[in-house]
Order: sequence, then C-alpha cells, then structure tokens
Amino acid sequence: MANDVPDDGTFSEKLRVPEALTFDDVLLRPKESTVEPDEADLSTRVSTNVELNVPVLSAAMDTVTESDLAIEMAREGGLGVLHRNMDVDEMVRQVERVKRADELIIRDVVTATPEQTVREVDEMMEREGVSGAPVVDEDDEVLGIISGTDIRPYLEVGESDEVREAMTDEVITAAADVTAREALELMYEYKIERVPVVDDGNRLVGLVTMQGILQRREYDNAARDDDGKLLAAVAVGPFEMDRATAADDAGADIVFIDCAHAHNRNVVEGAKEIKDAVDADVVVGNVGTREAAEDLVDFADGLKVGIGPGSICTTRVVSGAGMPQITAVAQVADVASRHDVPVIADGGIRYSGDAIKAIAAGADAVMLGSYFAGTDEAPGRVITMNGKKYKQYRGMGSVGAMQGGDDEENRYLKEAPEDDEEYVPEGVEAATPYKGSLASELYQLTGGMQSGMGYVGAATIPEFKDRSEFVRVSSAGQRESHAHDVVITDEAPNYSPDE
Ligand code: 5GP
Repeated sequence: MANDVPDDGTFSEKLRVPEALTFDDVLLRPKESTVEPDEADLSTRVSTNVELNVPVLSAAMDTVTESDLAIEMAREGGLGVLHRNMDVDEMVRQVERVKRADELIIRDVVTATPEQTVREVDEMMEREGVSGAPVVDEDDEVLGIISGTDIRPYLEVGESDEVREAMTDEVITAAADVTAREALELMYEYKIERVPVVDDGNRLVGLVTMQGILQRREYDNAARDDDGKLLAAVAVGPFEMDRATAADDAGADIVFIDCAHAHNRNVVEGAKEIKDAVDADVVVGNVGTREAAEDLVDFADGLKVGIGPGSICTTRVVSGAGMPQITAVAQVADVASRHDVPVIADGGIRYSGDAIKAIAAGADAVMLGSYFAGTDEAPGRVITMNGKKYKQYRGMGSVGAMQGGDDEENRYLKEAPEDDEEYVPEGVEAATPYKGSLASELYQLTGGMQSGMGYVGAATIPEFKDRSEFVRVSSAGQRESHAHDVVITDEAPNYSPDE
C-alpha cells in the first residue's frame, strides 16, 4: 500500500485509478491571436500519403456513407469512408462512382453509329440524358459528332435519315493528357461544348464536356488525387483480404481496417497482411490507448481512435470497457506524432467545438456519424414523427445492422449466431433530426472549428495542435457553457440543447 494513503479500511491498490476525460470535461484556453477565423487553414494529412482540405471524415456506417455522400464529402474537401455492409461487387461499383464523379474526362461515353437514324439517336440521347454524342465505327474510330442542334432540322424533314448525313464530320478532338484549361480553350475557339478524347489511332477513349468543366470549378476546395479524381476510401474487416484488394484495384485511396478493438493480436496480423497486399494507404482502428498505438505505428498509415464514444454505441455499458475520447486521442497521438503517423478521432462529436477539441488533443482529423446521418446525401428516406422530420441512424453493432449485413465479418460479432441464438448488440437503432444538405452541415462544422482556431491564435492545423491548451471544466462550468436560463425561441443551425 502506498505510504501517503491512510488505511481507513477502504483502500485497495486496484482502485488507484487514473482519470480519463472527454469533450465536456475540457475547453480550449483562449490565447492572444492575430488569426481571423475565416483565414484559418483547415487542410490536414489524414494518412501517410493522403491530404484533405477539410479535416473531416464521414463514418463507415450503412446509414451514413454510400457513394452519394462520399462524393459530396470529397467535393467539399473532406472524405467519406464507404461502409462494408454491402457485398464486394457493390463496394467496387461505389468506389468507381466516387472516382468517376467530376472526372475531367468522362470514360463511359454515349456514342452513336453512322448507320443509326436520327430518330434513333434522338431517342437514345433523351434516354441517356445527354445532348450530344460522338459517332464511331466498329473499331471506336471517331467519324463525327452529333448534337441536338444537328438533329433538329432532320427530325422535321426526314427522320429516317442516317446519322452520317446529319453529323458534323470535322471533329475537334484532344489527347488523353488534355487539361481542363486546354479543353476550354478549344471549346471557346471552335464554339463547341464537347471534345472527344482520342488515342493515337483516333479511337475514342473519352469525352470532355463544358458542363463537366464548369461543375468541377464549383468545387475548387475538393479533395482530389494526383489525377484530379475525387478521393475515395472504404472500410474493410481485418480479415477481409478480398474486399481490401478489390477496393484497392477499384482505385480506393485509403483502406480503413474497421474493427471495434484493433489492439488484438489477430487483428494486428490481419491488418499487416492487408497493408502488404494493397497500394492504398491503410488506416487501422479503432484503438484507445498508448500501448495499442505502439503496436501499430510501425506499419499503419494512420490510426483511428474511439472505443465507445459513438452516439449510437453501447459498447461501454454492454461490455464495461472503453476510454473517454479526449484521453484516448491524446494517448494515441502522443505515440503517433513521434512516428509521424496521422490520427483520426472517431465518434462522440456532437458540436463543432467537440471536433476542434479532438484536434487540440492531437488528432489530425475527425470522423462523424450522427452529425451527417440526417443529411440529404445519407442513405435512407426522411420520416416524419410528431410533425418533425428525421432520418434513420443505427449503430453498425445494432441488431438491425448485424442482421442486414455479412455476419462473418461484422465488426461487433465474434461469431454469427445460430438460428435460435440471439445477438449481443453493442449499438442501437435510432432516428436523427433531418438536416438538409451535407454542404451546409459541413459549413457549420468547419466554421465552428475555424472559430476555435481563431480563439487559440493558430492559422493552421499543425500550429493549432501545438499551440492549443486545455482547461478542465467543472459540472457547473459545463452548465454555464450551454445556453441556460432562457427558453430558446429560434433554432440555431449549429446548436440544439438536447442533442
Ligand atoms: P457518432 O459520430 O455518431 O458519435 O459516432 C460514429 C462512430 O461510432 C463510428 O464511426 C464508429 O466508430 C462507431 N460506431 C458505429 N456503430 C457502432 C456500434 O454499433 N457500436 C459501437 N460501439 N460503435 C459504433
């Protein structure tokens, strides 16, 4: 027994326990600042080789991230991690959708043949939702290009005329290494809206359209790879080699090893095997302690932190195990920063203030589920209860998600139950308020994070991590932090007291 503890009969060595803190226990200490919040730079590194313009990821959950939300996240500068409650083929399709969205060169081109009639092509273009099509022969060689304006006069006089009569046969084409600027110059010079991309033999390999270029310009903060494609990421189980290699082949930039407790010898071995097999970066999680970080930093391209903080998660009450999130992030980051491995704080973030506190604790980026589950881009439909709109949000360890997915590889299942056995869930199924567009949710989140950087006087995320300091908050201080002693009359876009 320690000498300084009086033996009043209650002491036990086992109860000399350290304290662990979470978001509400701390606040950022305000410091002298020359940084205006809207000038604070949120760009960060999320894994060894992947950088984001916004340090935010959406959770790999089947009520949060499928390709629609992943595309929007990347367009806004962050990253969506596709969930793994879908079969491998579907995941590959979704990765490809993300990589193809906003691509300068469209690869999946709608084409016409010279023998088709103008009526057939008109109907085809209507069906496919395009207003023009390159005309190619059986070897894909470009013979001409046809558009709605070429067709219209023929539709009135002779709609059974062949495309070869109506098409423009002096086609302006570009090579596969064309840039957006060069394509635009061609479009202005020749007053055209689409430029077929051809190989050395004049065979069609793609198409650049004016509409596509303008759309890309709208997203000037997008998170893109070196080829200008949106970044894509997927979750895979620690033993799902097939899924990992398929996602890698489909072009995923990061593979997230998605596991409730990654500090498990078998999981570590599985993650190492996947790391050896793929080109993509491999982020490993979840972890919540210094020792776990020490066992993973040698090979992981990033570490994801969170044992039980999630809004829909019941791990801590079901299993009695967990680690309050600010302490978990700080412990992992202590080790990871020495090895230059990025850290992602995953779960428990309700407000923008929580997100920037996680970064102050040492994270390079944050992952959120409930915050995005109510947006238009999240899977699932809007439901109305008592006159209010909601969307479904469920834990991946909830009964519903476990029944709906692949039992063999669920993150919270040791073994698939037999028919008459029950699941032991570690999450709940819930509804979350409907919120509108992802872009506006993200705007509130990042705006609040930038405010935090302004209060601390840090212009960049690395500077903020270095400069920020916490103060400890009492429960009276926590009450003072929230709106108090008033009746809220108008909802704020970034605060709801009962969240
Ligand atoms: P949120 O942002 O909603 O607070 O937390 C989202 C995170 O919770 C996810 O990224 C994931 O790490 C974690 N999570 C998702 N489903 C479950 C679950 O059923 N049980 C547990 N323990 N954690 C979950």
